[in-house]
Amino acid sequence: MKGWWGKLLRVNLSENKVTVQQIDPEILKMFIGGRGLAIKILWDELEPGIDPLSPKNKLVIAAGPITGLVGPSTGKLVVAAKSPLTNGYGDGNIGTMASVNLRRAGYDAIVIEGAAKKPVYLYIENDNVSILSAEGLWGKDTFETERILKNVHGKDAGILLIGPAGENLVRYATIISQEGRSGGRPGIGAVMGSKKLKAIVIRGTKEIPVDDKKELTKVATEAYNEIKKAPAYDFWMRQGTMATIEWSNTNSVLPTFNYREGVYELYRLIDGYSMEAMKVLQRGCPHCNMICGNVVIDVEGELSELDYENVAMLGSNIGLGHLGKVAALNKLADKYGIDTISLGNVLGFATEASEKKLIDEKIEWGDYKKYKELIEDIAYRRGIGDLLAEGTKRISEKIKGDSWKWAMNVKGLEISAYDCHAAPAMALAYSTSPIGAHHKDAWVIAWEVKVGRLEYTKEKVEKVVELQRIRGGIFESLVSCRLPWIELGLKLDYYVRLFKTATGVAMTLDDFYKVADRIYALIRAFWVREYGGKWDRTMDYPPARWFEEPLTKGPLKGAHLDKDKYDEMLSWYYELRGWDERGIPKKSTLESLGLSDVANELENYVKLTP
Ligand code: SF4
Repeated sequence: MKGWWGKLLRVNLSENKVTVQQIDPEILKMFIGGRGLAIKILWDELEPGIDPLSPKNKLVIAAGPITGLVGPSTGKLVVAAKSPLTNGYGDGNIGTMASVNLRRAGYDAIVIEGAAKKPVYLYIENDNVSILSAEGLWGKDTFETERILKNVHGKDAGILLIGPAGENLVRYATIISQEGRSGGRPGIGAVMGSKKLKAIVIRGTKEIPVDDKKELTKVATEAYNEIKKAPAYDFWMRQGTMATIEWSNTNSVLPTFNYREGVYELYRLIDGYSMEAMKVLQRGCPHCNMICGNVVIDVEGELSELDYENVAMLGSNIGLGHLGKVAALNKLADKYGIDTISLGNVLGFATEASEKKLIDEKIEWGDYKKYKELIEDIAYRRGIGDLLAEGTKRISEKIKGDSWKWAMNVKGLEISAYDCHAAPAMALAYSTSPIGAHHKDAWVIAWEVKVGRLEYTKEKVEKVVELQRIRGGIFESLVSCRLPWIELGLKLDYYVRLFKTATGVAMTLDDFYKVADRIYALIRAFWVREYGGKWDRTMDYPPARWFEEPLTKGPLKGAHLDKDKYDEMLSWYYELRGWDERGIPKKSTLESLGLSDVANELENYVKLTP
């Protein structure tokens, strides 16, 4: 095979056993890699209904056929498992040298199953794989752990690891790499912790086989040059995603005070220009020539890497208008291995719960010192931190009142940093994202602001599906960063050509869209099976706050989502996807995507619409 190795490394931690398996080439063509391969493995291998934090769950780490090859931003991999936060499919991507080294070591994916009795880490060096003791590392934070492992295994080793939050099974713990590159929002770090797996260290020196090396280098060089020529390149290099703070505030979508509002009066103090004034370093993922990790020195004197999501969630959403303090909270989250989006949601939710006297803890908006303590409490599950480590859905079920209305999550995963009081397409994107509310699959908000905020149109639904196909399907399975395309306009044709020169397989964009639809249908089937067939369209609803509590400030004062119109959009969405009115793929849809076996299995749980 070219492009792919066709090899999977399987590690059983209960049995201390490592095997190398071939991956069926047909499966690679049907699912490409990354997220596609991950869901195929989880669907085929997971026993339905398992506890995600039990040894029965499996952690999949999957690269794609262009991962690690020359080409823009191809240094990413996907981490996936059944999520302890949502009880459905969970994944995330990480830009890391571990992706490049995994491929150079001769593998497309790793499956970790079982659980070790004592803390271990996995060391992979080409064909040699060892399970080593991590007893001396357990309890250490992510930065210290990475430093120690690099001292032992070399600076060029690719490392994926967890911090105390993953060890203590915080339901939104992530996997961390390279000092703060974080992925796996739906608690994939907790899954790693439940397996007593502290880290995966990878070194690889093989040459990845490709179909046409000369042409691949030519296409990649052209693409790198296109990126540098983009009109927005220079400003991107200055601010990266941080420019979005100002844009979001101007357009009233900046999450503020737990998504009560879309504007924040102190936004200037946390925006891209404030960041530029503090910036000391710029870093990013491997193989990227538009690196977007802006590093500042926080109020504690530490380096902290900022992007839009973590600044909005740990800034305006909790009423903290001080970038140095926001950076310090972000640094703590990275140190402990906690997802910053869910964390900002949980802290905002807890502050509102305190204000409404649904919890005894005294928490005030913008109280930096208190938030710092709470983050530590969450990481170690101390005091109130034990409850907050559960995520907004479970906290709300415990504290009751009307908190379910402002527990800002979909399917249990907290919402990313765009308020949707006046953004029905973005609300639909969050609600139909395959991992719970996340912007990764369909960041439709910028387009929606241009075409008109308040309309509920078929055109918007079509745009959500188109973006899900490209972002959630193509980029997540290739695996490559979507930002060169979405931010600087790199044409999708480059990715089609990179794939062709790597694998020798000629696929059109429409072929890729079909793969994306297959991945989406299989992920939806996985959710329905995990929920025992108890599934209806309310699973695809955004939080009640956006329907029931209008904005009280800003240019869109008074705006809120319309429930009936949202429902109509959701029906159009299902129609376009070939899913029924409950949001379950129809039998004919599954069959047309080559998933007849999935339809047969699903019928054990729910009656499918023909
Ligand atoms: S654009 Fe940013 S997120 Fe994407 S690969 Fe480059 S550094 Fe990583």
